[in-house]
Amino acid sequence: MKTTIIGYPRIGNLRELKFASEKYFRGEITATELEEAAKAIRLYNLNLQKNSGVDIIPSNDFSFYDGVLDTAFLLNAVPERYTSLGLSKLDTYFAAARGYQGEKGDVKAFAMKKWYNTNYHYMVPEIDDATEIKLVGTKPFDLFSEALDNGEKTKPVIIGAYTFLKLARYKGTKTAVDFISQTADAYSALLAKFGELGAEWIQFDEPSLVKDMTADDIKLFNELYNKILPNKGSLKVIAQTYFGDVRDCCNSLCSLDFDGIGLDFIEGKKSLELVKSNGFPKGKTLFAGVVNGKNIWRNNYASTLLILDELKKHTDDIVLNTSCSLLHVPCTLVNETKLAESYKKHFAYAEEKLTELAEIKKIISSDSPAETVEYRNNSALHSEPRSGRNDAVRKKVAELCEKDFIRLPEFAEREKIQKERFALPLFPTTTIGSFPQTAEVKSTRNAHRKGEISDSEYEFFIEKKIAECVALQEEIGLDVLVHGEFERNDMVEYFGECLEGYIFTEKAWVQSYGTRCVKPPVVWGDISRAKPMTVRWSVYAQSLTKKPMKGMLTGPVTILNWSFPREDISLKESALQIALAIREEVLDLEANGISIIQVDEAALREKLPLRKSDWHEDYLDWAIPAFRYVHSGVKPETQIHTHMCYSEFADIIKDIDDMDADVITFEASRSDLTILDVLKENNFRTEVGPGVYDIHSPRVPSKEEIKAAIGKMKERIPAEKLWVNPDCGLKTRGNEETVPSLKNLVNAAKEARNENC
Ligand code: GLN
Ligand code: ZN
Repeated sequence: MKTTIIGYPRIGNLRELKFASEKYFRGEITATELEEAAKAIRLYNLNLQKNSGVDIIPSNDFSFYDGVLDTAFLLNAVPERYTSLGLSKLDTYFAAARGYQGEKGDVKAFAMKKWYNTNYHYMVPEIDDATEIKLVGTKPFDLFSEALDNGEKTKPVIIGAYTFLKLARYKGTKTAVDFISQTADAYSALLAKFGELGAEWIQFDEPSLVKDMTADDIKLFNELYNKILPNKGSLKVIAQTYFGDVRDCCNSLCSLDFDGIGLDFIEGKKSLELVKSNGFPKGKTLFAGVVNGKNIWRNNYASTLLILDELKKHTDDIVLNTSCSLLHVPCTLVNETKLAESYKKHFAYAEEKLTELAEIKKIISSDSPAETVEYRNNSALHSEPRSGRNDAVRKKVAELCEKDFIRLPEFAEREKIQKERFALPLFPTTTIGSFPQTAEVKSTRNAHRKGEISDSEYEFFIEKKIAECVALQEEIGLDVLVHGEFERNDMVEYFGECLEGYIFTEKAWVQSYGTRCVKPPVVWGDISRAKPMTVRWSVYAQSLTKKPMKGMLTGPVTILNWSFPREDISLKESALQIALAIREEVLDLEANGISIIQVDEAALREKLPLRKSDWHEDYLDWAIPAFRYVHSGVKPETQIHTHMCYSEFADIIKDIDDMDADVITFEASRSDLTILDVLKENNFRTEVGPGVYDIHSPRVPSKEEIKAAIGKMKERIPAEKLWVNPDCGLKTRGNEETVPSLKNLVNAAKEARNENC
């Protein structure tokens, strides 16, 4: 049995690519120097994989920004607004990735979207009626040759034709089917070129095959590959899927002339069942994704062998593989020097996963697998009792019953009580929570972390910032105030640090998009609230004003979705444990006089399963209750807000209403407030604050613009249900644009209010 991986992280062990690229953007290094830094990372990764015993090593998994964007450039799907700037090849690419503003013009970047159910973002290719898809790039060939020069015949990896056409946004009247023949020709030319270069395997990434497929989708897939595969010559082509199973296109996959099929046995909940019931086609190689490419825990060899034993009944041609690209895990444990060995021995980042593949290969080829050292060590590790167990928390979760998820009295009655209590004007104004995190705020927090300033000096500083923030909001005339979140580095990390059961890594960076990386905290044990987390700041802020001060928390689903979750208990169980902790904080805030509490669920939408049929059973059926549990214990007069970053929730609108918050604020300005129609059609019950301006841009929206947005909102939503607010937190903005923007917002709301009377 051989081993391979789908792709390796390209950012570098210490984020070398990020730093080199950012230097290049600032003009501090030349393009050649950037290319050299990139090459050093590629060769390092190549040698690492060689030394770790990976048999089939991928190439072209490297990217300066994003693999889908690379594919658009490879296939000539680049809008003229970039190519006409007259920039170098590399700079044209970066213009599409990041936008360009300079002497040659002013263009926005490609749109960015979440990559399936991950926290990685890809650039959305744009195809219009004039687009001519053809093979124009050379990057995959160059990188193949580079590896060949370094003694390795690699497996080039490329986004497959079907997935590419499915991910593209069609700007004209043509759609995917109109590009079948051009696309097939381009991929055929690619195969021919790799044939000439002497490649043996080529991997087409086709993750779109794990989504729900219509009959038209299946037809598109078949037509593309019926045209492409006859041109493969002696090259062996893999259809590589990941993030799920291929239940809809199983027959096509088996009957098309692929030489290898890559299946995900980690996230593909039906993958094994499909092989068991359909068998595996003779003459094809099964690339079996058995090492988790998304999580950081050590593989459990006993469970992996069970899967492989089952697979071996159906085929003897198996290559051991990761479940998806290792892009989604950090690079190496080597630099994780501060974390105790007792934790680290349970972890496997990308580098350690390479070793796991080699070990599984060794174990499986042994006559008595269970007797091998590797197997025995692994079993011993997995049978160790886990630290961090909290029986009280487990008992509470087990005892939760239906009524714990129901807040009484019901919505309409609460709404009346709250209207009376707060007596807010029509179109009340508020913000989403954070205020600009200035250089001063960040450097003071760092100084505190490093022990350069004492706890009391730090707390004094935070109080000063809160006082300034409250005074500013009073001056601007906002109705519901916030404390500004100056004490938080990040809306999840902050809570993770206050919660028992979380651990933190030092270098576990994962690429989120382009040069941006995130360092998700790790759910290690059972979660509980060790101490109040936000109460002192909110209480202090409230003491400075007569206006209501919103308490500000992150919700259980978002905390979980932006962490590395446990695998030894279910996501539902973890979410409910976190919900228990956040609920304690909610009740604590309420008991300390905070009358409005916002529980952010910024990331609720993003982990919605890829298949609609799994939405409720696998996710919403516990995610929505977890949120409801957080606030079901508050008094009727306490107002619960929530916030979501994406307004792409048209398809789960009922579930959002069912969260039973009193008010929801969300991003809507970039999508032109289209969500309003959906709210209207569904008689959305929760009061709403559709963001009236985009905080992701430094632009200051004018009062007229905001009034127009309020006008649109009024046409569809009853005025007494509307709130006026920006579309997300202001932490990434500066005060220069924040203050005038908020002034315009308040004035717009006031005028709209007067006109309504
Ligand atoms: N309350 C958070 C803030 O204002 C919400 C951030 C988010 O939605 N991502 O920063
Ligand atoms: Zn947001």
